[in-house]
Amino acid sequence: MKNQIVNKIYRVVVYLRLSVDDGDNRESDSISNQRLLVRDYLAGKPEFVIVKECVDDGFTGTNFDRPGFREMMEMLENGEADTILVKDLSRFGRDFSGVLQYVERILPKMGVRLILTNDNYDSETSRHDFITLRLKSFINDIYPADTSRSVRANLLAKMTAGQCVASFAIYGYLKSPEDRHQLIIDPVAAAVVQDIFHLKLKGYSMSGIADILNMRGILTPLVYKNVYLKQKISSGFSKNGSNGWHATMVRRILMDERYTGVLIQGKRTTPNYKVKKVIYKDASEWVRYENAFEAVVDKHTFEVAQNLLAHDARRSSDGIALLSGLVECADCGQSMVRKSPDRTHHYYVCSTSRYEKECQPHYINEKKLVPVVQESVLHYISVIVELRKVLDYVDSAAIPEQRMYEADQVLKMQKQEYERISQIKMNLYDSFCEGILDEEEFRTYKKKYDLQLQQAEEAVKKQQTAISNMMETLEKQKQWMEYFLCYKDIRRVDRMVISMLVKRIRVHSGKRVSIDFWFADEFEQLVSLLQTVNEIQPNQALDAFLNGEGGKRRA
Ligand SMILES: [Zn+2]
Repeated sequence: MKNQIVNKIYRVVVYLRLSVDDGDNRESDSISNQRLLVRDYLAGKPEFVIVKECVDDGFTGTNFDRPGFREMMEMLENGEADTILVKDLSRFGRDFSGVLQYVERILPKMGVRLILTNDNYDSETSRHDFITLRLKSFINDIYPADTSRSVRANLLAKMTAGQCVASFAIYGYLKSPEDRHQLIIDPVAAAVVQDIFHLKLKGYSMSGIADILNMRGILTPLVYKNVYLKQKISSGFSKNGSNGWHATMVRRILMDERYTGVLIQGKRTTPNYKVKKVIYKDASEWVRYENAFEAVVDKHTFEVAQNLLAHDARRSSDGIALLSGLVECADCGQSMVRKSPDRTHHYYVCSTSRYEKECQPHYINEKKLVPVVQESVLHYISVIVELRKVLDYVDSAAIPEQRMYEADQVLKMQKQEYERISQIKMNLYDSFCEGILDEEEFRTYKKKYDLQLQQAEEAVKKQQTAISNMMETLEKQKQWMEYFLCYKDIRRVDRMVISMLVKRIRVHSGKRVSIDFWFADEFEQLVSLLQTVNEIQPNQALDAFLNGEGGKRRA
């Protein structure tokens, strides 16, 4: 290490700040603790030399009028230092727009390197969206729960709009010529993406889809991009030698949720700056922005494709079978494979029993299975048609609105309670400052009200979730029904209809068949809502539905 050649020396200003007013933790955010963390970070890094330590002890971060901060900026302006080292973003400042201005504009313009040791951020190496994510959690930190949701949402929107969206333009999209931060649909490529989803729903395998694309002479995404970016748009797509489509390319497109208009960030991270390894985060930690740009495929089509991908069926010798990839053994949960011992007879057999003999050798003749499925689909569509009529009645009865109103009232009361406790807490602090309470009394009371405040906050959050779920449920009800209603006049149930409406076909012993339709949970929710409505305000049509087809379906 002694012989290490250091190309550039960074002259560092260490910045430390603490203000209990800001709700800082006296222990973990203490000046000495910050100093320790920052020095620890610098250990073994000879390229950094500390030229100054600027401290603001007892200065709020909500503005930048702080002696230590001013001193630091002066040194940077005079060229006496070129790097800021600080524990995290909240030490730097708590005024969101101010911080953003420094981090995004002022410091980069001055050529100043910013390192946030505990936030894992270094302006020299971090990608742009990394700081965006940091800022996001930072906003949540500094704007407490009582700040209205819309304010926070606005800040987030401002920050994310145009900053993150621009970092990619996947196949099917182009950067807008007016605003390069915006993505717009590329009609040529988007049509190919839609075709791929359509073919999947029709029952084609991934390699089958690739074959079709190659046969049609569709350029692969990469070739298309090259041709397109060079503006050499050829008349008619020609197949580019051996660089055709293959199954993995098709799969990648089919599995890319961004085609539904959702922007997903924070999939990857790095542990720290010494280790360059990329860690893939769990899906639950991803940050999702719904409707970030126009969708190429709708959400249901995407879900249907995922369902088919999970049980991808190999192509049968005589083309696409009506039910391929959807039939499942009810005993072991494995797919049932379509077998054709001769040209006229086809049957489905449990795939487990063939190899492992752990399951019964279930099988069912396709000639018997297909009509059962087709009839069930037609019947279920007719139930939904009836349900939609009943819903019109419920809409006019306005009972869901009454429920919403009641839930809103509860939320209002909970918010008032939260405000009340917050006020008590504030007064408590004043009393302490004025000497009415001694430190021990103050701590005891503070602990008590902190707990109450936490409980009140949780209650508010729970109620907010309940309300948004209710709204979502009601809104969604009408959306999913449309998928069924658009088939209400069909005579023939083809592969496309089955893909869109049927999730699984289960074959039980004794050749009994049960069918899982998409949106079964929503159906159940709706029926239970209708039962409540019928109890409050009995109605003949509703009664007939609940005791008739709707009830039967559930049995
Ligand atoms: Zn089985």
